[in-house]
Amino acid sequence: MKRIKTPFGARYGSTLRKRYAELIQEYRKPKSCPRCEKVGGIKRIKIGIWYCKKCGAKFTGAAFALSSDIGRAIRRMPVKEIAQKPNEISGNNI
Ligand SMILES: [Zn+2]
Repeated sequence: MKRIKTPFGARYGSTLRKRYAELIQEYRKPKSCPRCEKVGGIKRIKIGIWYCKKCGAKFTGAAFALSSDIGRAIRRMPVKEIAQKPNEISGNNI
C-alpha cells in the first residue's frame, strides 16, 4: 500500500498515524451522490452530515465516509429487527 503523507512527522506513534491516513484517504476520495449519482461535489457539513452541491441533497452518513460497515448492516435490517436487538448492534465493535 502506498504511504500517505500525514502532517505529523514522527509524532503521535505509527499506529495512530496509520489510522489517520486510512481515514483521510477515504475522506478525500471522490464520492458519488446517493440521489443524483454524480461523482464529486459531495461536501461534509459537519461530522456525519453530507451535502451534494449539484442537487442540494443533505443526508447522514459516517464521520469520514458516506457510510460505515455498521451503517450498511443496519440499512439492510428491517426496523422491527433493529428494535429487538439493540444490544447486538451497539456491541458490534465498528
Ligand atoms: Zn446529488
